[in-house]
Amino acid sequence: MTRPEMGRLGWKELDILLVSGDAYVDHPAFGTALLASWLAGHGLRVGVVCQPRWDRPTDITALGRPRLFAGASSGALDSMLAHYTAFRKKRSDDAYTPGGRAGARPNRAAIVYAGLLRAAFPGLPVVLGGIEASMRRAAHFDFWSDSLRRSILLDSKADLVVYGMGERAVLEIARRLRAFLARGWAAGPARARGLLAGIPGTAFIGAADDVPTGAPCVRVPSFEAIQASPKELMTATLALEAQMRSGAFALQGHGSRDVVFAPPAEPLSPAELDRLYGNPFTRDPHPAYEETIPAVEMIRFSLTSHRGCAGGCSFCALALHQGRRISSRSRESLEQEARRLTRHPSWDGSVTDVGGPSANMWGSRCSADPARCGRPSCLNPAVCPHFQDDQEALAGLLRGLRALPGVRRLRVASGVRHDLALRSPGYARALVREFTGGQLKLAPEHTSAGVLKLMRKPPFSAFERFLSVFERESRSAGKEQFVVPYLVSAFPGCTDADMKALAAWLKDRGWKPRQVQCFIPAPGTVATAMFHAGIDPEGRPISVARTDAERIRQHRVLMPVESYR
Ligand code: SF4
Repeated sequence: MTRPEMGRLGWKELDILLVSGDAYVDHPAFGTALLASWLAGHGLRVGVVCQPRWDRPTDITALGRPRLFAGASSGALDSMLAHYTAFRKKRSDDAYTPGGRAGARPNRAAIVYAGLLRAAFPGLPVVLGGIEASMRRAAHFDFWSDSLRRSILLDSKADLVVYGMGERAVLEIARRLRAFLARGWAAGPARARGLLAGIPGTAFIGAADDVPTGAPCVRVPSFEAIQASPKELMTATLALEAQMRSGAFALQGHGSRDVVFAPPAEPLSPAELDRLYGNPFTRDPHPAYEETIPAVEMIRFSLTSHRGCAGGCSFCALALHQGRRISSRSRESLEQEARRLTRHPSWDGSVTDVGGPSANMWGSRCSADPARCGRPSCLNPAVCPHFQDDQEALAGLLRGLRALPGVRRLRVASGVRHDLALRSPGYARALVREFTGGQLKLAPEHTSAGVLKLMRKPPFSAFERFLSVFERESRSAGKEQFVVPYLVSAFPGCTDADMKALAAWLKDRGWKPRQVQCFIPAPGTVATAMFHAGIDPEGRPISVARTDAERIRQHRVLMPVESYR
């Protein structure tokens, strides 16, 4: 992060500069640290500029012009999601910034950083990555401006967007540019752009002839077609979701140009994940920061057991970003990382979480060929017969981690798929009796069958059955424990009557909801296409609470007035 650090490593220049909207934390749950570590492990010199000021070039140029390329990300969240509430009110806090203060990164950070980099380093390839760029790689609906926006490639003028988990793509970008440089690079973004075309897991501005001859390719509705007919956003979103599964190329017109989506990158293998997470992360913020970073305090002693989520929930950007295929770390690798936790100076004996996008998909896999699968979810409307999980082994993993010397307690804080947990009584029992710390967060989301179907979530009866298991196991363990239900208001298709039915169920149980999220249409999801187009994925009209007044009316059925200020 600094010139003196470069000097200590004997580096006069960088190969790659990474710019992030989050503060730098040397922890594998932070994308920039993970990516930098991966690249460094492949012999590349990587520098990081975090939360640069955007009104002057001094911060972004502090480490000098890198040899190969610059990558930029808004951080762990879409910057608009990080900055505004569901009712478009400005937030005053930011968990990824020292002191937890808002204001350390600009709105639409990926676009702003790309502009800074292009101005500071003319001719240098600029690559966008992270969830903001990934989910905005195609024409999309932007809730915060209530408008359709073009692919972020056009608005940022970046050379490439890396979508999904970026390790393979950034390494291939570096490899191609290094080879090009070795042959004598006369520089120039146009030449670099051709050089970088077609890398799996990337999108770029090109044309149909950038698709290799014979490669499967789908053309999705253009930006202009979506402008003319909102229903086309649903068609495009479903087609791009299917492209993530099939491994085809996709094209989307923007005026006279095409945005080309190369097939997704292969997930890292378990052995690659083990190597990556085996790197010696300090799990601390960079020493330059004087104030604490709230996100670090929450996740410092958590372990990532796997990537990917088979659920395919229609609103989830994280699962769409990571993909449906599960890639799991080995038990040995997780145990080694847990042993390292116990040597951290702030270690207090507690592993605060073991999980991923979901808590209980470690070790799951598809016994068929996922590339030929037409289903948008492995779990909905019912668990696919090819979906193979091993939650008994997961319970064994958790017990093994807890039994390590120096570990006193282990909790599961990632979201548990309760429909999956019901398939494995041994796991459910272990979760409730041994790994729940008084409260278990679960996401039934709603009671309405129609809304849950649109969310691609399990039926509410599955939540009720799990609740019985939870109560019985807690009682027999002599523990007073509670379920904290995560609920959503104003989801597309949800009516005022649906909200009242949900409120009635809560009242019957004597529950006062604490975690109710008014639906935020995140760019690129199927749920957002429903919100914009007012149709379900089959094209049938649905009612949508679109205006702030309609959304607030649904939200206040469950939450007090101050929750939406
Ligand atoms: S075949 Fe079944 S388990 Fe495999 S990817 Fe498709 S839905 Fe998932």
